[in-house]
Amino acid sequence: MNTALYEFLRSQVPEECIKKDEPMGKHTTFRVGGNADFFVEIGSSEELVNIIKYLKETDHSYFILGNGSNLLVGDKGYEGVILHLGDRFARIRIEDDVVTAQAGALLSTVAKAAAKNGLTGLEFASGIPGTIGGAMVMNAGAYDGEMKQVVTQVTVMTEQGEILELDNETMEFGYRTSIVKNRPLIVLWAQMTLAKGDMREIQEKMDDFGNRRRSKQPLEYPSAGSTFKRPEGYFAGKLIMDAGLRGYRIGGAQVSEKHCGFIINVGNASAADISELMDEVVEKVKDQFAVTLEPEVIRIGGF
Ligand SMILES: Cc1cc2nc3c(=O)[nH]c(=O)nc-3n(C[C@H](O)[C@H](O)[C@H](O)COP(=O)(O)OP(=O)(O)OC[C@H]3O[C@@H](n4cnc5c(N)ncnc54)[C@H](O)[C@@H]3O)c2cc1C
Repeated sequence: MNTALYEFLRSQVPEECIKKDEPMGKHTTFRVGGNADFFVEIGSSEELVNIIKYLKETDHSYFILGNGSNLLVGDKGYEGVILHLGDRFARIRIEDDVVTAQAGALLSTVAKAAAKNGLTGLEFASGIPGTIGGAMVMNAGAYDGEMKQVVTQVTVMTEQGEILELDNETMEFGYRTSIVKNRPLIVLWAQMTLAKGDMREIQEKMDDFGNRRRSKQPLEYPSAGSTFKRPEGYFAGKLIMDAGLRGYRIGGAQVSEKHCGFIINVGNASAADISELMDEVVEKVKDQFAVTLEPEVIRIGGF
């Protein structure tokens, strides 16, 4: 155990917010992944900046974690410190039609809070199992909605601790990407401007999206949602199905029979099983259709 690092972390956050050798399967929706050396529940931007400064000075790696719903952590785990923006960093404020939420707030919670206040615009996000932070990085979207349509301002922090306010345009939102995906910026808050709507209609829309998800997606198995991005002019799931890979399995990892765009953990999959299956799917689709699938899922750690 790295005592100096532990002592430093201990000086920044309450002891119960630090875990040593934490199994990452507990923090990812794939339910797989080896241990992280340290796992820290962050409660404020001050804690975050102090810890990151120290980690950089002492040459330790770190990774910002939201809800782990777009993440595959290798079986050998993560050498470094996982900084989790979760429950301790999840405040939500609503004033008129503006919703402001901290990075660790779950999209489902924010969407529900908006609905309760009769605000429309976030219904599409109610079934996406990520945090506000992860949603800013990925420009999360579904059913013709995406974060880009509602976000008016994002507060980010640089690794040096500088706080910047980015407007919608500066966020460079694109299909499952934003400026935060490509630069070492940490999302602290996001402000979303919604519109007044009818509470019953908002709820009906959220229920409809929920039903559509349950009927089309293999939500009964651990996964990270759509494994691959949608290639231009195609649907990843259809290409995978047409390549004959429906139900194809490596160890405990399987191409879902219900929705071929999802790789699922059908029981005791290792991260290596999932990763190998992802690579094989890419290869077979490329061989047959000359289309290169790009993973949406982010891989970290040792495999
Ligand atoms: C069943 C299921 C269904 C899904 N459906 C959809 C869908 O319909 N649409 C969709 O877009 N996605 C979907 N996803 C994927 C996933 O929920 C989204 O990509 C989500 O935005 C990821 O958020 P997260 O908090 O889980 O991020 P994580 O998986 O924890 O992290 C993803 C990336 O964001 C970074 N990150 C997280 N928080 C911050 C922060 N505060 N600052 C800087 N970087 C940060 C991480 O470092 C990592 O690089 C689905 C996933 C599952 C399991």
